[in-house]
Amino acid sequence: MAHLNLHQLTIHQLAGLLRSGECTSTQIVESVLQRIEAVEGKTNSYLSVFHDEALRQAEAADQVFKREKNPHILAGIPIAIKDLISLKGEKNTCASNILRNYISPFDSTAVRRLREAGTVFIGKTNLDEFAMGSSNENSCFGPAKNPWDLGRVTGGSSGGSAAAVAADECIGSLGTDTGGSIRQPASFCGVVGLKPTYGRVSRFGLVAFASSLDQIGPMAKDVKDAAIMLNCISGKDPMDSTSADVQAPDFTKSLAGDVRGLRIGAPIEYFAEGLDPEVEKAVKDGMERLKALGAEITDISLPHTSYALPVYYILSSAEASSNLARYDGVKYGYRSGEEEGLRKMYERTRKEGFGPEVKRRIMLGTYVLSSGYYDAYYIKAQKVRTLIRGDFDDAFKKCDVIISPVVPAPAFKLGEKMEDPLTMYLSDIYTMPVNLAGLPALSVPCGFNSSGLPMGMQLIGRRFDEETILRAAYAFETTTDFHKKKPLL
Ligand code: GLN
Repeated sequence: MAHLNLHQLTIHQLAGLLRSGECTSTQIVESVLQRIEAVEGKTNSYLSVFHDEALRQAEAADQVFKREKNPHILAGIPIAIKDLISLKGEKNTCASNILRNYISPFDSTAVRRLREAGTVFIGKTNLDEFAMGSSNENSCFGPAKNPWDLGRVTGGSSGGSAAAVAADECIGSLGTDTGGSIRQPASFCGVVGLKPTYGRVSRFGLVAFASSLDQIGPMAKDVKDAAIMLNCISGKDPMDSTSADVQAPDFTKSLAGDVRGLRIGAPIEYFAEGLDPEVEKAVKDGMERLKALGAEITDISLPHTSYALPVYYILSSAEASSNLARYDGVKYGYRSGEEEGLRKMYERTRKEGFGPEVKRRIMLGTYVLSSGYYDAYYIKAQKVRTLIRGDFDDAFKKCDVIISPVVPAPAFKLGEKMEDPLTMYLSDIYTMPVNLAGLPALSVPCGFNSSGLPMGMQLIGRRFDEETILRAAYAFETTTDFHKKKPLL
């Protein structure tokens, strides 16, 4: 195996080479570091790269391969981590000036599990500030850029995690998804991204945006790699009371390739006005492929879909305004204006530390929680959230998996939506209902449009049924080449 191309391979391919002795972890990490050196100036995927430490971890992994018969499948594999997931001893900036110099004193549970598996941490990836955004343009370090067209956005908020995988600057990465932040950038960058069921993966050590919606999940080069990563990070964690006490199966076992008899639901509300015709065709072709493999397609209805966007912005902003109250210049992070007294210090710290989108969410959230508006907005939105959840419960009586577009259109141009928050928010119209309902969903590449931009197909499953969406996505993927295409950088 030419040493130079190792960065292009998948986790399962590299795991094979490591076991047969055809390559070492050190060679993989060197290959990835060279790739980062070559293309990072174009993609801006990373906020930090752990050059020396990654080589040290690779060397340790190579020792494990000499010593142990059966190391973990992720041993020696370079993985990148979104920069709001804590990794001990490294910066955790959240792409915010308020945490620009903050160093995490502990590992998040997801990182700890990867570390115990012998993963090599290659760096921390770019994102929208505090994961608020759909384009990665809300990063205080500048946007990540789409490897398929550097004039376009990666999507967000896990834009750096998606771009790093697409550009082969890592083998896999962790992202987070509150309203679409794994699936939407995965779709824009042509990689696989999986948002697990709420509670499947511990949120301990994930900097909170909206705690009732946030989930950590894998971004990968193919479906099998996503299943491998999910295996490692899933499970009950005493450090997160919302992590569910549900046994995680071996997700790679669901990759059987058989979808005979699987009932696919196509939500009529998602194939409606505003959907780009090329995206619509790619997703419908994807469903036809699954039908040819033995699945059945039925129309389903999610009648409360049009309320999802306001409900999401009321609830996520309410939670964000409360979660972000902790950045006050006292305990950690940026501090400004001390000499003018405590109150001025709070004001100046937050004024200078937060970017415009984060301030917008804090104001919106504070408003909907304030007395007099709490019942009219916050409580009402909670009730409608229950209706949205009920829509999915009803739909899953008629089908086993719901298939839809991930985003209404492929990646847009940098700058195009920055002046108009509402059109930006519409990017997540098909993804955020899934978070409100707490369901698992993934994005799998399903084609390229006439300008060569990747498009993704969303598969949504029942609560704690990642297996069915993985099974269907894998069956689909094995009949296509979309995931194998590489951007020319
Ligand atoms: N784009 C959505 C938002 O801005 C979702 C973000 C996310 O999933 N973290 O809130």
